Amino acid sequence: MPELPEVETVRRGLEPVLVGRKLVRVEQRRPDLRFPFPERFTERLSGASVEALRRRAKYLLADLSSGEVLVMHLGMSGRFRVEMGREAEEPGAFYYDAPPAPAHDHVVFELSDGARVTYNDARRFGFMSLYDGATIESSPPFAGMGIEPLGPDLSGASLAELFRGKRTPLKAALLDQRLVAGLGNIYVCEALFRARLSPEAPAGSLVTETGRPKAKAQALSEAIRAVLEEAVAHGGSTLRDHAQVDGTSGAMQERFRVYDREGEPCITPGCRGVVGRIVQSGRSTFHCPVCQR
Ligand SMILES: [Zn+2]
Repeated sequence: MPELPEVETVRRGLEPVLVGRKLVRVEQRRPDLRFPFPERFTERLSGASVEALRRRAKYLLADLSSGEVLVMHLGMSGRFRVEMGREAEEPGAFYYDAPPAPAHDHVVFELSDGARVTYNDARRFGFMSLYDGATIESSPPFAGMGIEPLGPDLSGASLAELFRGKRTPLKAALLDQRLVAGLGNIYVCEALFRARLSPEAPAGSLVTETGRPKAKAQALSEAIRAVLEEAVAHGGSTLRDHAQVDGTSGAMQERFRVYDREGEPCITPGCRGVVGRIVQSGRSTFHCPVCQR
């Protein structure tokens, strides 16, 4: 399942291809993916230009000149292929374990500059929908969605505001999509390790009595950003056994510091701890019980 950094990698790959181009023709090859496509899907898209390609949590949002927003979710196995003449590339191809089968090409966008962007999804857990640009922010699932961890909203101060008075363990608070949107288990474990915070500490312990962020809150916001930026720079993470397009195996998972390292020595210099695994809300938390206090 693509995590936030993979979706961001795909966004950065598609942005220069889509933005400023008109969707000349859109082909929809089946009535549904995870959900049915919107009514008159291809007609509503055809002729519109893409003005921006944004990401919110794990959703890709294409702002269209028609005033609608094309929302795309990759589900478990969604992927885009870009073809320009004979050149083809797949933004985010790092995490795919097999080449795309043409039978799973479900949507084709033909752009005004001759490029073709094909959405392929073998398991069809992805979906596409159209929203009114004026009301998307107040519509589900975007209404009530937490702050964006890669954007400017994340800071020690914003975490303090979200965590004030909360007894919830830090791990659970960070996975709560109403507080911070799109952070998955892996990145929460890694960020808490880097910030040297116990996953079991109450979220409110990062906040002073008067609601100010403690240094720990600042450290956590920086750790979250660093972990995600690093993952994007390395092309994402999924835990599949995968190879990059150029054959090099790759990626962020080799760089995990605690995740999936149960029983290994802690890598913090001078720490004699051993990475442990505990279960919180049904999910494994990997942490160093010595330096994460
Ligand atoms: Zn340690």
